[in-house]
Amino acid sequence: MNLIYEGKAKRVFKDPNSKDRVIIEFSDSATAGDGAKKDTFPGKGAIACDISEILFSYLEGKGIDTHYVKRLKGPQLLCKKVSIFPVEVVCRNIAAGSFCKRYGIERGTVFEKPLVEFFLKDDSLHDPLITMGAITRIKLVTRDIIQFLIRVTLSVNYYLSELLKQQNLTLVDFKLEFGKTEDETIVLADELSPDSMRIWDSKSVSLDKDVFREEKGDLVSTYKMLLDTLRAASPEDVDIAKEVVQVIVEPKSGIKNPPGEVTKKALVRLGFAEVDDVRVGKVFNIVLKKPITTEILNHLNIMNVKLLSNPISEKHKVRLE
Ligand code: UDP
Repeated sequence: MNLIYEGKAKRVFKDPNSKDRVIIEFSDSATAGDGAKKDTFPGKGAIACDISEILFSYLEGKGIDTHYVKRLKGPQLLCKKVSIFPVEVVCRNIAAGSFCKRYGIERGTVFEKPLVEFFLKDDSLHDPLITMGAITRIKLVTRDIIQFLIRVTLSVNYYLSELLKQQNLTLVDFKLEFGKTEDETIVLADELSPDSMRIWDSKSVSLDKDVFREEKGDLVSTYKMLLDTLRAASPEDVDIAKEVVQVIVEPKSGIKNPPGEVTKKALVRLGFAEVDDVRVGKVFNIVLKKPITTEILNHLNIMNVKLLSNPISEKHKVRLE
């Protein structure tokens, strides 16, 4: 098979049967500390592949777009070919790892709300933390795509956390990668395994790569325990979370806006002399019964043109924040 890419614990091959598919193979190697620590664990790749298969199928079943197509023989997944965005998205529910080092926060501090962070995918720079402002200035991805990635990441966090909660496990943090397929659909890509997430049991014992990072036990039997636990979970018992998106409709500049003029006059009359201009628009809070996808974003644009706004006099924007 034709190798396209070789990572630390995965290899990506061309699919001999289709040009818009790839084959992802999980290897038995594990690295930590930016590659400083490296070892091989026979059987690990197959278990990480099994876990990825279960979690990708589960998320697909809940309506999240992923690159997963099907399981192949051996530690391989058939996936859609995507061009990967050059950012890693990390979501944290509890402080651990680099977050604790960076801010001097105690490991295990529970956050009020999940935190989403971005890291630049660049080994030569050691994958530094990157702000949203820098992502847009360097034109890595657009602001709209950043907001979309945050929303999908929070959905993934909800669905994975709920599934693990059934088994008395806690999702501490995880790293996601996203990409775009040939038809411009944004999908969750890469892997979903304990190599890229932290999972604790009820006594804060790690069921993930921290076992290797911190030499806390046998990695393969830990991964196998997690796999058996996931096989016993009931994905159908996890409720679908509703999502809210906002559509903002505003009068185009240069178009007269009588409600705005009336409001401005009234405000000035009331003594608010600092008011120079007012433009009145409308906001639609649209509640969705499934996670946000590229298709839903396209639908929202069609809804705007067909019903929510007047394309001649108004401009519309879908707000995901
Ligand atoms: N992570 C990953 N690949 C990376 C960096 C982090 O899969 O290159 C995962 C890691 O396993 C953890 C989460 O992202 O679940 C947050 O990692 P953190 O930033 O704390 O870095 P680490 O402690 O792994 O250096």
